[in-house]
Amino acid sequence: AVKNLTKYYHTKPFFGHSKVIKAVDGVSFELQAGKTMGLVGESGCGKSTVGKTILNLDRLTSGSIVFDGQEITHLNRDELRKTRRNLQLIFQDPYSSLNARMKVAEILAEPFKIHRLYRGAELRAQVEQLLDLVGLPPSSAQKYPHEFSGGQRQRIVIARAIALRPRFVVCDEPVSALDVSVQSQIINLFSSLQKELGLTYLFISHDLSVVRYVSDEVGVMYLGKLVELGQVDRIYSNALHPYTQALMSSIPVPHPRLQRSREKIILAGDLPSPLNPPQGCHFHTRCNFCEEQCRQEEPRWREIEPRHWVACHLVKSKTVKSKTEGREA
Ligand code: SF4
Ligand code: MG
Repeated sequence: AVKNLTKYYHTKPFFGHSKVIKAVDGVSFELQAGKTMGLVGESGCGKSTVGKTILNLDRLTSGSIVFDGQEITHLNRDELRKTRRNLQLIFQDPYSSLNARMKVAEILAEPFKIHRLYRGAELRAQVEQLLDLVGLPPSSAQKYPHEFSGGQRQRIVIARAIALRPRFVVCDEPVSALDVSVQSQIINLFSSLQKELGLTYLFISHDLSVVRYVSDEVGVMYLGKLVELGQVDRIYSNALHPYTQALMSSIPVPHPRLQRSREKIILAGDLPSPLNPPQGCHFHTRCNFCEEQCRQEEPRWREIEPRHWVACHLVKSKTVKSKTEGREA
């Protein structure tokens, strides 16, 4: 459970002045165990920062992160090491995240060694089991990363991430660097591992089609804030926040006849700088429904129906809801 997560960066001082970038600004959500929450939004909206701060790879500015009933934001080194076993990260580039001078066997043995878990034959058996879990032959153990294709390398990265049988994995653009044909294989691997090991994923991606396929729930971020979060079907076919509606309308529809039923919503202007986000609702400079209140007051993050949260002044009741929905139709 993430509550009011905030991460501010300070820019390098320029003539004595340093500016604050609110990379993540008061984000709250709860993950459901064994499920996948997708996190989408334009680049620079704070998605990766959310992932990194949850894993404690980046120190949060304020907020609370509770894992398994335990607050993990202020752990000492020992406690942190124990928790780390349960929290892992898989990121985009399988080329740079593997040590080129290590054989796969060594790469996969490393987490066990760090935690002093297995040795000798037992360790080799563990490595073999990991390779099997990610669909690589046992002979892979004696090879180096450069001997594998991009997709195979990502399998090795995944094997390393699940070595200690974590409970929660942040996947940050895990298939973005791969060919489309390979993407679906890796995505299927993610879902089979989820079933087999009971994993919970936070799946960060700018690829809306991939996120739709893997997620149970989806959160949409804009300029450091969550604007909407809900069940995947709700978000993709019946979103309430004007930004989500615009984002979803930009997904290409494969069938030409379907195209007619969904107009692409064009947003005015450019994405504002996170150094200087607009007052009130951050989205008001580009929103087609902007009213006076939106320029003054920041909309609250509210659960408007079970497990569906929105931050927009217009989405208050059924009647206003139909106003935004009506506009789309
Ligand atoms: Fe648009 Fe106002 Fe809703 Fe912001 S609060 S998304 S500006 S209608
Ligand atoms: Mg990113």
